[in-house]
Amino acid sequence: MINSPLCPCGSNLPYSSCCLPILDDHRCAKTAEALMRSRYTAFVKKNEQHIIASWHEINRPEKLNFDGHPVIWLGLTIHGVREGSENDVAGTVDFTSTYLENGLISRLREMSQFVREDGLWYYKEGECNVTRQKVERNSPCPCGSGNKFKRCCLLGNLTK
Ligand SMILES: [Zn+2]
Ligand SMILES: [Zn+2]
Repeated sequence: MINSPLCPCGSNLPYSSCCLPILDDHRCAKTAEALMRSRYTAFVKKNEQHIIASWHEINRPEKLNFDGHPVIWLGLTIHGVREGSENDVAGTVDFTSTYLENGLISRLREMSQFVREDGLWYYKEGECNVTRQKVERNSPCPCGSGNKFKRCCLLGNLTK
C-alpha cells in the first residue's frame, strides 16, 4: 500500500485527493469550505500563487511576504459553514487556524465570506479575532513532535 501523507487542512484525507488538486487547479474547489481548506494548505505549503488567485480582486494583495514573518502552522478547525455549496453563489465559513508566531501560539478565529463567480469560489473578506498564548520553553512542543518546545519549533520561529 502506498503511504500517502494526510492533507495539512485536517480533513483526514490524503493530500493528493484533498487540497493538492485545488492548489493545481482553482476550479477543483467545488464548495466554499473546499476553497477555505485549500487556502490554509496553500499557506502551509507557501503556495503564494494559489492564495492570491483565490482572493477576490476587490481585496487581493499584490504579493505575500512569507520570509519576513516565520509562521509554523499547527492546524485548522472548521466550526461551521453557511451556504457555500455547489449551488450557491456565496458562503460563510467559521474556522480557527492555529499557528506559532514569534514563539507564541496564536489562534485566529475567523468568519470568512466567499463568493462564487463564473464557477470559481473566491475568498472575499473576513472578520477575525486572534488570541495569543505563551508556550513554556520546556513544555512539549505544540507541533506534536514529542520534543521540548525550545529544542523544536521555537528554534527559528523568533523574529530577530
Ligand atoms: Zn485538504
Ligand atoms: Zn515542534
